[in-house]
Amino acid sequence: MENRVAVVTGASRGIGKAIVLRLAREGYKVVINYLNSEEEATEVLNEVKKGGGEGIIVKADVSRSEEAQHLIDTTVDTYGKLDVLVNNAGINKDQLMIRISDEEWDKLISTNLNSAFYCSRAAVRHMMKKRFGRIINISSVVGISGNAGQTHYAAAKSGLIGLTLSMAKEYGNRGITVNAVAPGYIKTAMTDVLPDEVKDRIIGGISVGRMGNPEDVAAAVAFLASPDASFITGQVIKVDGGMSVL
Ligand code: NAD
Repeated sequence: MENRVAVVTGASRGIGKAIVLRLAREGYKVVINYLNSEEEATEVLNEVKKGGGEGIIVKADVSRSEEAQHLIDTTVDTYGKLDVLVNNAGINKDQLMIRISDEEWDKLISTNLNSAFYCSRAAVRHMMKKRFGRIINISSVVGISGNAGQTHYAAAKSGLIGLTLSMAKEYGNRGITVNAVAPGYIKTAMTDVLPDEVKDRIIGGISVGRMGNPEDVAAAVAFLASPDASFITGQVIKVDGGMSVL
């Protein structure tokens, strides 16, 4: 993968960080997008470099069209191309549907869904020229099953699946594959906020008997980005420890 360039949004911590470290280990040049914490993003880049890898950090609020464009432009200015885009940036704020304000709805949709559209649109224009691209959208199992208290989050994550399927149909003949990964419960800052009894209940519903690690998601992403997955597009791969089969 030494000549491949991968952009990961929201990559200063959690699942995004694990994806960056995994792809860097496989030889990709990595573009580490972050929103606020330059310090955390720099730490991730230092870890990449310590492992012999190469990359850059780029500050961009990808929920804003012009900043998403800036992320992709900076990547192409730096490395001349872009092979892999992982739309990972996301936020969640559990709330009963009747209590969600217009502003909260818009923020959840723009951060989790619009961001992937903005980055993908900018990226596909470059990928088409090279007739090669891999786009991987980080959805969620709740985008398939729905979840009480997460109507806005689940709607955005379902939207990512529609985006994935449609883009797969639109760009397959240009050498671009588009897939989604739907994680279940993964140990990150997003799930740390859950009370212990809720975590225990969740683990009781996971077939393999544990929460996932960010590295479990990163492994699926690395596979979808790899040449082994060149005949796989328009798919949603659940990484949920069997939660959805119980
Ligand atoms: P996290 O909160 O640790 O990471 C999310 C990252 O996205 C943060 O670094 C944050 O700064 C960044 N981000 C948020 N808004 C942004 C914006 N506008 N522009 C750029 N970056 C932005 O959470 P995580 O668990 O690592 O989540 C990563 C992805 O995985 C999210 O899309 C999340 O919805 C999804 N996911 C997580 C779980 C889980 O159990 N943790 C389950 C299913 C899906």
